[in-house]
Amino acid sequence: MKPYDAIVVGSGFGGAVVACRLAERGRSVLVLERGRRWARQDFPRPGQKDAPWWFEADEAPVANQTSARWGRHSCLPARTGLFERRRFPSMQVIVASGVGGGSLVYTNVQKVPPAEAFRGWPAPLALDYLRSCYERVREMLEPAPIPHDLERIRAFEAVHRRAGLADRVERPPLAIYWGEGDAERLNRFGAPQLPCNLCGLCLAGCDRHSKNTLDLTYLKRAEALGAEVWPLCEVVRIAPRDSGYEVVFRRLAGGTEAGKQGSKPFAPRSGAHDKEAGRQGEEKVVARAVFLAAGSLGSTELLLRARDLDRTLPNLSPRLGSNWSPNGDFFALLLDSALPIQPTVGPSVAAACDASDAGFYALEGAIPSSLATGHRTTVTWITRLVSWLRLSFLRRAREAAETRSCGDEEAERLLAYMGSFFLMGRDESSGRLVLDPSGCLQLLWHPAAGEALFARMRRYLEELGRAYGGAMLIPQPWWPLSPGTVHPLGGCPMGRDPSDGVVDSYGRVFGYSNLYICDASIIPRALGVPPAMTIAALAEHIAEHVTRSP
Ligand SMILES: Cc1cc2nc3c(=O)[nH]c(=O)nc-3n(C[C@H](O)[C@H](O)[C@H](O)COP(=O)(O)OP(=O)(O)OC[C@H]3O[C@@H](n4cnc5c(N)ncnc54)[C@H](O)[C@@H]3O)c2cc1C
Ligand code: SF4
Repeated sequence: MKPYDAIVVGSGFGGAVVACRLAERGRSVLVLERGRRWARQDFPRPGQKDAPWWFEADEAPVANQTSARWGRHSCLPARTGLFERRRFPSMQVIVASGVGGGSLVYTNVQKVPPAEAFRGWPAPLALDYLRSCYERVREMLEPAPIPHDLERIRAFEAVHRRAGLADRVERPPLAIYWGEGDAERLNRFGAPQLPCNLCGLCLAGCDRHSKNTLDLTYLKRAEALGAEVWPLCEVVRIAPRDSGYEVVFRRLAGGTEAGKQGSKPFAPRSGAHDKEAGRQGEEKVVARAVFLAAGSLGSTELLLRARDLDRTLPNLSPRLGSNWSPNGDFFALLLDSALPIQPTVGPSVAAACDASDAGFYALEGAIPSSLATGHRTTVTWITRLVSWLRLSFLRRAREAAETRSCGDEEAERLLAYMGSFFLMGRDESSGRLVLDPSGCLQLLWHPAAGEALFARMRRYLEELGRAYGGAMLIPQPWWPLSPGTVHPLGGCPMGRDPSDGVVDSYGRVFGYSNLYICDASIIPRALGVPPAMTIAALAEHIAEHVTRSP
């Protein structure tokens, strides 16, 4: 088999950047991505029958030493939807699946963390050192604050003024093509885009391609330069071979589905691909270097299996699985605000409060009307209940009359006075990913970790609720629901040596040459701000170092 110069596993913020920069330097690159390509019309939509929301592998347990998830190598996953949800006993984790990774579903925030977020990172990494890398990401993804003045932004700004926090409010840079009117443009990589129409569905994929996602930017450029991207190819094993690595994958829905979606036909470089070899349903490719970019859970799981089950990489650091963090994710809902909010208009997030001195960052969020439509009755009843509770405590008789009906109009009105808030912060990053005795990935995370941070967030949210004059539903430690995150970080932390981390500050895996990790898994502790820009900047830094070497 003729090797590729580089195989990249995963096509999110780490993988897309590295693939692009290596292709620019004339390296032969193959990207293996388990998810599909998502064209404008493919994204799931609320209310749509059989909408492809979930990526779900066949989880049937098997009686061999491999994991339940990957044990039945000839089985295709049940569904290849946009989101993967991993439910661990103490935490739910939601990530994306598709060419472009998390960029397909993220809320577009491109935020540079404060300098203190880099404390403890191995040299030379620090904010000042990485500034040029952030700049390169900015050039590619073109983030800009929302140019429109929305009711919900005005309300957010007003309540922060009331709470004496006006200087903390910002309109975060969003990687969205704002444009004007409704004219389609070709971006500078040749991808057609329509200007954002403020529909609020960024979290479910943008069916106007207004989001400057990775498939329309970094990956578009990588493919134009000859990089191959194979969707629906899930990597299951990595092993050293000759002077490089053999990467084993299974195709999840074959070339047929990929072809149907308008992706390039499955056309491997001659000689680099072995269809017959390996266990049933598996195929192999080889490369001189491998870049793992399957995300915090994906890359850590692949390496845990390689060290502990397949034993193809037995010398990986004992730190593998450590320093895992949900980035302090926290969510709250505001009902019955005294100020109009109109959360149905605008992108998924539009304004933020930077409370980095208190260790957190808060975003206000949209509630898309199409999502709320399907849940009108729920919206109405929750809000009526809260109004009634407030009535009994505050005796605001006027509201009693207003909440008696339960029609669509009322739901609409109640919706206009609702708000949602996403917070993230620098938690203790004390989680650990391990394989359980049946080979399944498990997360060891103590629910009390981060309580000091959450207490500060609760105080802020209570104040915000008062300033809005509404009822803020704030998760409490005694709630029976397990928390969730969309920002998993760590598992393969950077460190000074193998006793401190899994990779060094250039993404090189300790103990294995030409094996790199370039995604969220290498971030050694919570950033406390949205992490995508930092992951991309780190990937820029890693790629720069690799391409400088002969
Ligand atoms: C709903 C939501 C909103 C978010 N909003 C923001 C935001 O506004 N700003 C921000 O900074 N961050 C946001 N994030 C987080 C951000 O998306 C992630 O931090 C980021 O995508 C992580 O980058 P990554 O390269 O590590 O992994 P990902 O972007 O998750 O990419 C990993 C890729 O690897 C693929 N993969 C996994 N396993 C395998 C395998 N075995 N074989 C082949 N391919 C595999 C996956 O399908 C995926 O495409 C959001 C996330 C979600 C889910
Ligand atoms: S608000 Fe709608 S059109 Fe604008 S970026 Fe988000 S999904 Fe796309």
